[in-house]
Amino acid sequence: TQIFTNRQNSEGTNLHIESMFQPFMSAVTGFVGKQWQGGPIINGKTLNQGELVQVCSPQNRAQQVGTIHFADASIAEQAIAAAYQAFPEWNRTPVENRAEALEKFADLMEQHKHELIALCTLEAGKLLQDGIDEVREAVDFCRYYAIEARKLYAYHGPLAGPTGELNELFVQGRGVFACISPWNFPLAIFTGQIVAALVTGNTVIAKPAEQTSLVAYRAVQLMLEAGIPAGAIQLLPGRGSEVGGKLSSDERVTGVCFTGSTDTAKAINRALASRDGAIATLIAETGGQNAMIVDSTALPEQVVKDAVQSAFMSAGQRCSALRVMYVQDDVAERVLDLLKGAMAELSVGNPINYKTDVGPVIDTRAQSCLNEHIATISKTGKLLATATMPEDTAEGSFVCPTAVEIGSISELHKEHFGPILHVVRYQAEKLDQVINDINATGFGLTLGIHTRNESKAAYIADRVNVGNVYINRNQIGAVVGVQPFGGQGLSGTGPKAGGPHYLTRFVTEKTRTNNI
Ligand code: NAD
Repeated sequence: TQIFTNRQNSEGTNLHIESMFQPFMSAVTGFVGKQWQGGPIINGKTLNQGELVQVCSPQNRAQQVGTIHFADASIAEQAIAAAYQAFPEWNRTPVENRAEALEKFADLMEQHKHELIALCTLEAGKLLQDGIDEVREAVDFCRYYAIEARKLYAYHGPLAGPTGELNELFVQGRGVFACISPWNFPLAIFTGQIVAALVTGNTVIAKPAEQTSLVAYRAVQLMLEAGIPAGAIQLLPGRGSEVGGKLSSDERVTGVCFTGSTDTAKAINRALASRDGAIATLIAETGGQNAMIVDSTALPEQVVKDAVQSAFMSAGQRCSALRVMYVQDDVAERVLDLLKGAMAELSVGNPINYKTDVGPVIDTRAQSCLNEHIATISKTGKLLATATMPEDTAEGSFVCPTAVEIGSISELHKEHFGPILHVVRYQAEKLDQVINDINATGFGLTLGIHTRNESKAAYIADRVNVGNVYINRNQIGAVVGVQPFGGQGLSGTGPKAGGPHYLTRFVTEKTRTNNI
C-alpha cells in the first residue's frame, strides 16, 4: 500500500532562482544548433527510408532543427505486423516488469531532460517553462500509470458466491493500440498514451504529429533503452491521412488512443466502424470551446491574471485554453481596462528567452488561419486589446495576442487554436442563457468560474457540461493524478487522462469459474 499512497509528482526547475536558472540555461542552450535525425522505428531499428522531411523552428523558419524520414503505407504495414506478433508475449509479461520499465523510462527522461526541453522549444516553439512542464508531465504519467496498473492487475478473487466454485476475475491487454497524438504536447501526451497502453499489456504503434516527430523519435529511443521490448513499441512518423488512415482501417489494430481535433477523431471513428472484424476501442481526447464566467463579486485583478494565463500561455495552443470570457456588465469596464493593461505587458518573442510570455504558433498554416479569424471577427466584433509584436518575430509563425468583444459564444463556429480571447458582456439575470449558450456549442472540455459567491459557483458548475471546472484560478495545466483531465461531447470520449479510470479502457476482463 505504501507504494500506492506515497506517490509524488516530479520536481520542476524554478527559473526565478539564480542558482537553478544559470545551469539550466547553459544545459538547454547547449543543444541549440544540434541537428537531430530520425525515422520510423520498426522492431527497434531506425529505418532511413521514406520521404525525408526538413524540420524547422516555428520561431524562425530559417533555423533547421534536423530531418526525419516519414513512413508510408508499406512501412506502416511492417509496424502493424511487428506489433501484432509481439502482443502475446508482452501481454503475458508480469505487470510488475512492465511497470518497472515505465519507471526506468521516467528516470531516463529526467536524465535527458535538457535535451528533451531543447527539442520541445526548438521543434514545437514551446517556452522554456512549458518545456519543463512537458517533461514533468511525461514523467508523472509513467510513474502514475505504473502504480495504477499494479492496482488494476492485483488479484481479484476468490469472488464470493453461493456455488462452492472458485470465481476469479483477471484483466489483460486488448491487443495492438495505435496511439495518435497532437503537436501541442509533443512529449507529454505522446508519452501518456503510449505508456498507458503498454503497461496494461498492449503493444503500441505510435503515430506522432507531423510537426513534432523528432521529440517523439528521441522519446522512443529512451523507451527502448528503458527495457521496453523492441516488438512492443513501433514508431511511425508520417502524414496523418496516409499513415494514420492505414492504422485505423487495419483489423489487426484493436484500439486507437487519439488526441487531436474533433474532426480527425470523427474520421477515425468512421474508419474503425466501417472495417470488418472485431469492434474496435476508441479513446479520443479532442478540442474545446472553453468559457469563463465572471460575476460582479469576482476580484478583477485575479480575473485578469487568470484570464491572460488561460488564453495566452503556450500561445493559446492548449486544448484547455480560455476562448470566451463572459463578464457581468456591472464589472466589465473595470475588468476590460485591466485586461488591456495586462495584454500590453505581454512579451511576445523567442521562446528560448526566459522573459518571453508568448512564443510562436506551430506553423505558418496555423498562423494564417488565426490571423484570418482575427481580421474577420474584428469586423463583426469590437477589437479590445492586443499585445505588441517585436520586429524579430517576422521570421517565425507568430500571432499577436488579441482580445475581441463579441455578442455570444454562438458566433464562433469552430475552435480557434491560438492566442485569441473573445469577450462577451452579460447581465446578471441572463446567467441561465449564458449557461445554455455554452452548452449549445456541444464542446465540453474546461470551464472557468470567477465569483466569491459559493452557491453561484456551485450553480454554474452543476449546469455547464464540461469535464474540468476551475473556480477562482486559471483553467489550464491539469496535474497528473491530481486533476484527471478530459472532456465530454465534442471534446472527447473519456476516461480522463491522469485519472484512476484511464487504464480500464485499455484492458479486457476475463472471469474464470473453476469447479475442479
Ligand atoms: P489533428 O487532429 O490535426 O492531428 C492529431 C493527430 O492525428 C496527428 O498525429 C495527425 O497526423 C493525425 N491524423 C490526422 N488525420 C488523420 C487521419 N485521417 N487518421 C488518423 N490520424 C490522423 O490535431 P492537432 O492539430 O495535431 O492538435 C490540435 C488539436 O488537438 C486541437 O483541436 C486541440 O484542442 C486538441 N487537443 C486535445 C487535447 C485533449 O486532451 N482534449 C489535448 C491536446 C490537444
